[in-house]
Amino acid sequence: MSEKESSCSSCSVQSCPGEAKGQGCGTVENHLSHIRNKVLVMSGKGGVGKSSTAVNLALALAAEDNAVGLLDIDIHGPSVPKMLGLDDAKPQFTEQGVVPVSYEGMKVMSVGFYLEKADDALIWRGPAKTGAIQQLIADVDWGYLDYLIVDCPPGTGDEPLSVAQALGTVDGAVVVTTPQEVALIDVRKSITFCKQLKMPVVGIVENMSGLLCPHCNEVVEIFKRGGGEELAKELQVPFLSRIPIDPAMVHAGDSGAPYLVANPDSVDLQANRPPRQLVVCCAAPSRPRHPDRRPAEDGLKTAPAAHGNPGP
Ligand code: ADP
Repeated sequence: MSEKESSCSSCSVQSCPGEAKGQGCGTVENHLSHIRNKVLVMSGKGGVGKSSTAVNLALALAAEDNAVGLLDIDIHGPSVPKMLGLDDAKPQFTEQGVVPVSYEGMKVMSVGFYLEKADDALIWRGPAKTGAIQQLIADVDWGYLDYLIVDCPPGTGDEPLSVAQALGTVDGAVVVTTPQEVALIDVRKSITFCKQLKMPVVGIVENMSGLLCPHCNEVVEIFKRGGGEELAKELQVPFLSRIPIDPAMVHAGDSGAPYLVANPDSVDLQANRPPRQLVVCCAAPSRPRHPDRRPAEDGLKTAPAAHGNPGP
C-alpha cells in the first residue's frame, strides 16, 4: 500500500478527506464525512414518542449489522441516556474530538451527558442555543457510520433548523406523530419544514395509536385512528407505521432497557413492526457502503446479542 493510500493518522479511516486536503482531521466536515446516511427523527411537538422511535430505530439498524450512531440533540429534554440506562455515562475528550459512549456496539452521544444531574435543565437563549447545537454536532468524532440517527428537538423552529444546517446534508427525515388532531396539525408543519429544506421524508409514524392490551394482545382503539395515514396520502409522503400504546414500551423507556432489547422475542408482534418497516424504508435510499469501511476496528459490527444476531 502506498503512502497516499494509508489510513489517516488521526481518525484511522483510509483516504480521510481532511488528511487528503491537508486540512487535518477533526473538523466538522471530517467528522461527518464518514457517515453514509444521516436520518433525522422529528416531531411537531414533544411527548409523542420521537426519542423512543429514534432509540428503537437505531437499535434495529444495529441489529442488521450496520454501524450506527445515535445523537440525542433534544436540548430541552434529552431522554436517550435514561432510555439506554446510560445516566452516569460521560463521553471522553481527545484531540480528535468527543468520543461517543458505546452501547452494545452502537455509538451514542446525548446533550444529556453534559448535565450534572439528569433532572438539571439546560437554559440557552438565542445564539447560544444555536452555537451549542452546532458545537455538539461538530465535536463528535463518529468515525465510520452506516447510519447516524438524530433525535431532533421538537417543532419546526430555530432548533431543528440549526440541527439540519449543522449536519449539512440530511438523507431522510422520519416524522413521528400521535393520532390526535393537534399533533397532526404539527406534523403538516414538519413535512413543510422538510420540503423547504429539501430533506427527503422517509415517512410518517403514527405512535400511541390505540392500546395494545397486555391480556389479549388485541389493539383497543381509544382515540381516532387513521389520521396519520390520511395525512400521509394528502401530503404524498409514505406512511410507515402505526404503533399502539404498549405498557411494555413505557416500562422499557423508564427502566433503561430499551423495548427491542427487553422484548427480543416480540419480532412479529404489532408493536415491533414499526422499527422493521423503518429499517426497510431508511435502508432504501442508502448510498453504497464506504469501500474503506473497517467496522471491526470501530467495534461496531457486533450487534446486541439480545436481537439474535451473534455478531462476527
Ligand atoms: P418525545 O421524544 O416525543 O418527547 P418519548 O419517546 O420521550 O417522546 O416518549 C414519551 C413517553 O412516552 C416515554 O415515557 C415513552 O416511554 C412513552 N412512549 C412512547 N411511545 C410509546 C408507546 N407506543 N407506548 C407506550 N409508551 C410510549
